[in-house]
Amino acid sequence: MLKLNEELCIGCGVCEDSCPFAAIEMIDALPVIGESCNLCGACVDNCEVEALSIKLAAISEQADLTDWQGVMVYCEFRRGALAPVSLELLGIGRKLADTKGLQVAAVLIGGGTGDVAKQLIGHGADVVFRVDHEDLTFFSEESYSAILTDLIKENKPEIVLAGATAIGRSFVPAVAITLNAGLTADCTALELRQEDGALLQTRPAFGGNIMATIVCPSHRPQMATVRPKVMKALDFDDTRIGEIVDVEILSKWLDTKIEVVESVVSEETNVNIQESDILISGGRGLESEKGFELISQLADVMDGNVSASRAVVDAGWIPYPHQVGQTGKTVAPKLYIACGISGAVQHVAGMQSSEMIVAINRDQNAPIFDVADYGLVGDINEILPKLIRKIEQKRGE
Ligand SMILES: Cc1cc2nc3c(=O)[nH]c(=O)nc-3n(C[C@H](O)[C@H](O)[C@H](O)COP(=O)(O)OP(=O)(O)OC[C@H]3O[C@@H](n4cnc5c(N)ncnc54)[C@H](O)[C@@H]3O)c2cc1C
Repeated sequence: MLKLNEELCIGCGVCEDSCPFAAIEMIDALPVIGESCNLCGACVDNCEVEALSIKLAAISEQADLTDWQGVMVYCEFRRGALAPVSLELLGIGRKLADTKGLQVAAVLIGGGTGDVAKQLIGHGADVVFRVDHEDLTFFSEESYSAILTDLIKENKPEIVLAGATAIGRSFVPAVAITLNAGLTADCTALELRQEDGALLQTRPAFGGNIMATIVCPSHRPQMATVRPKVMKALDFDDTRIGEIVDVEILSKWLDTKIEVVESVVSEETNVNIQESDILISGGRGLESEKGFELISQLADVMDGNVSASRAVVDAGWIPYPHQVGQTGKTVAPKLYIACGISGAVQHVAGMQSSEMIVAINRDQNAPIFDVADYGLVGDINEILPKLIRKIEQKRGE
């Protein structure tokens, strides 16, 4: 907080003039700090008599970090199915835990989860905390937060992972706040630091121009959300042995202010480009919404789906669920064909893990060619119709 030493203050008003956020007002020759103060420090630097200072709250340190052991993975279950990112998280969770010889615990919350817990064991969990109740069928921020928070408090995992999905992004920050822990959102890489085993959490920062690695040295648990399709799931192994713990449901978990009346899947979100093997992606080079007709035709003949860059989503040519990239979805199809997409870092961040990338662009210096396995330099309006015809011919043979 910003502190004033009234004995040193001479009431000159320099602090009021130097505040870029108009957060200081001189009243009776003394500065009064308003709510818009964001502790930028401009007033402190400009105060010649050093009457102002900033005192930051002490970073919380836990006495014994070794009380916290193992990895806990929140495994998202919605609409009767496990979100694929859950298995990817178990894969990386297993790898991290094995480095230290520790356990991986999976948390499964929902209604009618059936034999999903067994699946989680086959994919790497040592123990599954199953919280199954019909009132948990629909996602509820309050209930899910309370359950995950209590399970973390009770089991003390040193690392907690969740998917950076709409659900994960919605309630995991609340869990972190309740536990007084930090949370690194949208990680693209996770590893353990050799010297002390701290979790190195890497994520894009500053608009994707740099990768930042974040460490949480003095507090547990270390919490991270991870984007779908970034980590690899382990193959199912039916010989793996694990324990399923049916957690006793506490009434306080179900006592929420929210009543879900109905849950409807919007047509737009029905498109799941993350689960497609073939994506035909269109960018501003299509020149208009009409350009997507060619993209859709190619997707149809190849049994693929249509995706897009942010430029065309922002232009309203195609809805947001199709967007690939840092602020869209991360995809890793077997084949990604980028048509009229320049290859900005924020786009590439979302598709560079594709098995094969083909780029079509009339600018031979477009950065998309740096990540492409095959490149075609030319006009999409000429290339795409020929490609569609060729594939149709081949399919007809
Ligand atoms: C914080 C932040 C987050 C962002 N997140 C995302 C994101 O998630 N996803 C994303 O995609 N972008 C994102 N962006 C935007 C990104 O920086 C680019 O602006 C965007 O990806 C450009 O889209 P584009 O490649 O379609 O368009 P452009 O960069 O305009 O490229 C169009 C390309 O089409 C080619 N072309 C033109 N006409 C033809 C033709 N007839 N035939 C063949 N080629 C042709 C041109 O040579 C050019 O290379 C983000 C930006 C910021 C700042």
